[in-house]
Amino acid sequence: MIELRSRVPGGPIEQKWDKHRFEVKLVNPANKRKYTILMVGSGLGGASAAASLSELGYNVKCFCFQDSPRRAHSIAAQGGINAAKNYRNDGDSIYRLFYDTVKGGDFRSREANVYRLAQLSVEIIDQCVAQGVPFAREYGGLLANRSFGGAQVSRTFYARGQTGQQLLLGAYQQMQKEIDRGGVTMFPRTEMLDLIVIDGRARGIVTRDMVSGKISCHVGDAVVLGTGGYGNVFYLSTNAKGSNATAIWRAYKRGAAFANPCFTQIHPTCIPVSGEYQSKLTLMSESLRNDGRVWVPKQAGDKRPPGQIPDSQRDYYLERKYPSFGNLAPRDIASRAAKEVCDEQRGVGEGGLGVYLDFADAIRRLGERTIRDRYGNLFEMYQRITDENPYQVPMRIYPAVHYTMGGLWVDYNLMSTIPGLHVIGEANFSDHGANRLGASALMQGLADGYFILPVTIGDYLGSAKLDPIDASHPECQRAVGEVMTYTERLLAINGKRTVDSFHRELGKLMWDYCGMARTAEGLRQALSQIPLLRAEFWRNVNVPGSATELNQALEKAGRVADFLELGELMCRDALHREESCGGHFRMEYQTPDGEALRNDDEYAYVAAWEYMGLDREPVLQKEELEFEYVSLAQRSYK
Ligand SMILES: Cc1cc2nc3c(=O)[nH]c(=O)nc-3n(C[C@H](O)[C@H](O)[C@H](O)COP(=O)(O)OP(=O)(O)OC[C@H]3O[C@@H](n4cnc5c(N)ncnc54)[C@H](O)[C@@H]3O)c2cc1C
Repeated sequence: MIELRSRVPGGPIEQKWDKHRFEVKLVNPANKRKYTILMVGSGLGGASAAASLSELGYNVKCFCFQDSPRRAHSIAAQGGINAAKNYRNDGDSIYRLFYDTVKGGDFRSREANVYRLAQLSVEIIDQCVAQGVPFAREYGGLLANRSFGGAQVSRTFYARGQTGQQLLLGAYQQMQKEIDRGGVTMFPRTEMLDLIVIDGRARGIVTRDMVSGKISCHVGDAVVLGTGGYGNVFYLSTNAKGSNATAIWRAYKRGAAFANPCFTQIHPTCIPVSGEYQSKLTLMSESLRNDGRVWVPKQAGDKRPPGQIPDSQRDYYLERKYPSFGNLAPRDIASRAAKEVCDEQRGVGEGGLGVYLDFADAIRRLGERTIRDRYGNLFEMYQRITDENPYQVPMRIYPAVHYTMGGLWVDYNLMSTIPGLHVIGEANFSDHGANRLGASALMQGLADGYFILPVTIGDYLGSAKLDPIDASHPECQRAVGEVMTYTERLLAINGKRTVDSFHRELGKLMWDYCGMARTAEGLRQALSQIPLLRAEFWRNVNVPGSATELNQALEKAGRVADFLELGELMCRDALHREESCGGHFRMEYQTPDGEALRNDDEYAYVAAWEYMGLDREPVLQKEELEFEYVSLAQRSYK
């Protein structure tokens, strides 16, 4: 049975991290080079960790499935990164960022971790500026800030609408320096397909070279997963098409507990779905809600073009319902509000699944040039996709799957329930509770990679007794053999349906039953249908080509096979949590005015699931959450 020990240090919250850094074991500089760390992932989490660990003197092997680490999904992040610098002198502080994040996550995260995140946010900005990340600046030279949802201060640092790209280039160049020095060995186009656990410790991974098909085994002293989120289980999401759950899912099947799998973020401002064959959704950054006003017609069924609907006949519903936060209400709340007005037949655009995001007032007030400076590339992207000019007509937006707060359970040291397996970035369940605030994922990924893991992994390496092993170890051979058999099994099915058709069907089930609004009845439906779909997949999927070549159908098949299992766990988790909190909205549990109704007496815990085999139900373990500093309260943005 897995034991969840959070290892949160004692003492006042402001001193925990400092104290912990003093108390953890250190590895002598001369000894660091004796250790090899396998870093899977080269996004903001992975690249920052690989570079930092190598700079400390560890040997790092870094793996990614893209052709270059620079193409990790982090590059897509648009709006910005939070930090409690208080440059605007508008009342921000570490404590306020901590408070906003715990409240924003609907009180389902660990206080000590969130406080540390807020503390480190300040250092991240300095680190990135030193690397040359071109953050936007005020006229006087100070770094500029804008606001994001769930905050009443301006604390989001940004580089136009390309913050992720610029931050990733910073981390990448730091890693590239270490690659040149020989501290990091990079393995692009290499997919991790299994975790090797020896004597209860993570000691290696099995990979497939995606060009030659060669299956290999890599061993080391610790394994780190920075493999991103699993939003693509819904098929349609704002995530890069390649983002997937395989690394964390296979680690789960080797004994790492999976925490809060049902906590999914549905982002309110995405370009609406336009047709049956669409395979990807596009985010319009939340930063746009700094200046854009969200509205729908007051009258149901009003199909007049937006310009013909006078102000008095518009419902600026976020400003009406949440006057304190207005258009910057947090994502879960803004998404549900959009669904609500569309359910009332007041949605806009073809099919009625859309709301307006209107910049007319801001353009009148600030001028088109200012708006172009702030959001030019986002406006251009919108126009290219929709063929509508957002400087002239309001954007049409609708919620879409965007981020997964759930992930592998980790302790304060970012170690999973498998000793030696650490998990960073979006892949862990970490700091966002049941809802992530905008611009906090980049902050968390970089806090994990630049500042936390480099310290805490030393504690593990300095205290674990690790026998030397190599690829001839029977466990390595066994894991490699299992991956080969699995691959051959997928290729041998030779059925009639494409991998994508299964993925699309699973995605629809997940969206209908485990999406923005969930019910016990719907979740039971999904739980009966997903196993049938999975069984059909293993009977009737068609994976053309062979294992010894570039084979994208084979890559996808493995990932969809994992999604077919993960989707079921998500529904199980959503069904067991008989409350609404953050992105997990159970229709049965809402306040009279339609807000999420938490049940703190029974559900103020992290739900961590333990794998017991495919045909057996996973076991639920609970990490009770204690709130010493932020008192549990009904979340209000009114
Ligand atoms: C469109 C969009 C915009 C966003 N904008 C913002 C924003 O403005 N601010 C913000 O804070 N957050 C934003 N987010 C969220 C944020 O971008 C992500 O949460 C974050 O970048 C994730 O970083 P990561 O390092 O954890 O993972 P990723 O960047 O997803 O990297 C994952 C890495 O793991 C590798 N990998 C995965 N599986 C395997 C495997 N099996 N084998 C080998 N390698 C593997 C990949 O190759 C990749 O290198 C946005 C998200 C989206 C979708």
